[in-house]
Amino acid sequence: MSPSRIANISDTTALARAARIIRAGGLVAFPTETVYGLGADAENPLAVAGIFDVKARPRIDPIIVHVSDIDMANKYGVFPQRAHKLMEMFWPGPLTLVVPKTSSVPSIVTAGLETVAIRIPSHPVALDLIRTSGCAIAAPSANPFGYVSPTEAQHVAEQLSDSVDMILDGGPCPIGLESTILSLVGVIPCILRPGGTPVEELAAILQPLDTGNIVSKLPQAPGQLQRHYATLTPLDIVEEGHEDIKQTDKVGLISYKPVERHEKYETVIILSETGDMREAAANLFRSLRRLDALKLDKIIVHPVPEKGLGIAIMDRLRRCSAGRKVADS
Ligand code: AMP
Ligand code: MG
Repeated sequence: MSPSRIANISDTTALARAARIIRAGGLVAFPTETVYGLGADAENPLAVAGIFDVKARPRIDPIIVHVSDIDMANKYGVFPQRAHKLMEMFWPGPLTLVVPKTSSVPSIVTAGLETVAIRIPSHPVALDLIRTSGCAIAAPSANPFGYVSPTEAQHVAEQLSDSVDMILDGGPCPIGLESTILSLVGVIPCILRPGGTPVEELAAILQPLDTGNIVSKLPQAPGQLQRHYATLTPLDIVEEGHEDIKQTDKVGLISYKPVERHEKYETVIILSETGDMREAAANLFRSLRRLDALKLDKIIVHPVPEKGLGIAIMDRLRRCSAGRKVADS
């Protein structure tokens, strides 16, 4: 990848160049508060097809449309009354709403569904890019399908190399977990994916709320879980003190708070010295990537308490861990 393809946002021409690329049907990786997105003009089906190709993403997996204001959101989605309070409270921010789509959304964006996933990101670079481009930006996470999402520009550069037209470097993503996805299509609102907006904050407003099985334990058959958010190195979630490590194995540990015993590990990453869940979330994907690069025999992660952002963290870790036993999705 030519280094010139990474443009730091402090370069005053970078944003205008990125917007020109989007308008011309190209692909720009850009920072959001959740993870780095791989963006294209949401109304340009050919450009969106490029996203699927670059990620090797199955065409049946729809893409989130990023907009900069409510008027723009209304151009693409038909928002029911109960969406209004949510939009007011959580936008801009890491909450994606699934609602019926309008005819302005090409079917490739929604994988043929009559619904569309929409959000207003809060990251200033993402907002500036949408406004300067003058169009909504369809963007999934900027990583090969199934792998850990990127939270730094360098992560994108390492994996998508020459296949994107530009990578806007706006520093590390402050939240570091994907958005929470809430469907408002059925009678009862339903969480499709836990993420950066804590489920409890939604439950406080939406009653009833279908949280699906997001806080349930692993299903009996690992095959029930899709492989996703996955490192190449096998990953196990093990309570502190219950690790069973062979002498010959090279094992790395990720813990959300300081650990007592760590001599059996090759490398130890503490996500937060104070056990702060926000800090842990922001450091999670970067840490998974770091350990994955060391070609260890195994990565062990201590489970985090399942509340707030901890719900989304455990969701990602379970998919990373159990999903590898099934065929690639
Ligand atoms: P990502 O690739 O990380 O941006 O993830 C986007 C997620 O949004 C995927 O899991 C999609 O399946 C989901 N999604 C996007 N559009 C829709 C939709 N219309 N209905 C349900 N889920 C959607
Ligand atoms: Mg993704």
